[in-house]
Amino acid sequence: MSIREVLEGPLYIVRALATTFKHNARPRVTIEYPERQKVVPPRHRGRHILHRYADGLEKCVGCELCAIACPVGCIVVEAAENTPERRVSPGERYAKRYEINLLRCIYCGMCEEACPYDAITMGPRYDLADDHPDKFIAVKEDLLEPLQASLGDTARPSAAPSAQAEPRKW
Ligand code: SF4
Ligand code: SF4
Repeated sequence: MSIREVLEGPLYIVRALATTFKHNARPRVTIEYPERQKVVPPRHRGRHILHRYADGLEKCVGCELCAIACPVGCIVVEAAENTPERRVSPGERYAKRYEINLLRCIYCGMCEEACPYDAITMGPRYDLADDHPDKFIAVKEDLLEPLQASLGDTARPSAAPSAQAEPRKW
């Protein structure tokens, strides 16, 4: 080892420590996931949300337009009639069954574009990993927003569109 290499050794240590201290002073870019979730941009296309009106009624009227628009056929909707005793949505019908196969979904947003009542939108959730394919079938209860999370939209449709196609099966 030459004398020059011996003298340069401490210099490298000082430069390395300077780099460490420089980054210590900067704001952190990492977050303590999963305790804290990353804030996503407003137009992020994460897992879908089925919305309600402010009074708790579901916006979805089971018209299946989202299922027809979906390019990969990953939405299944089965509608049922509202009754005076059991009203779920403002229209004639509501979605008795609403499922999305999240493994097939390509998160293109065509379903929210097709929905005439803004009943379905792409949400902020991106942590969708799981350990079994069956867990990627998001059922209505998974997608429906809780009552208190309603966005306060009280505008009601005057009539619900009728279904144009038979419901798909997986
Ligand atoms: S985001 Fe696209 S692929 Fe996914 S359910 Fe909606 S329409 Fe289908
Ligand atoms: S298009 Fe909208 S209202 Fe019609 S079934 Fe889909 S989510 Fe429901």
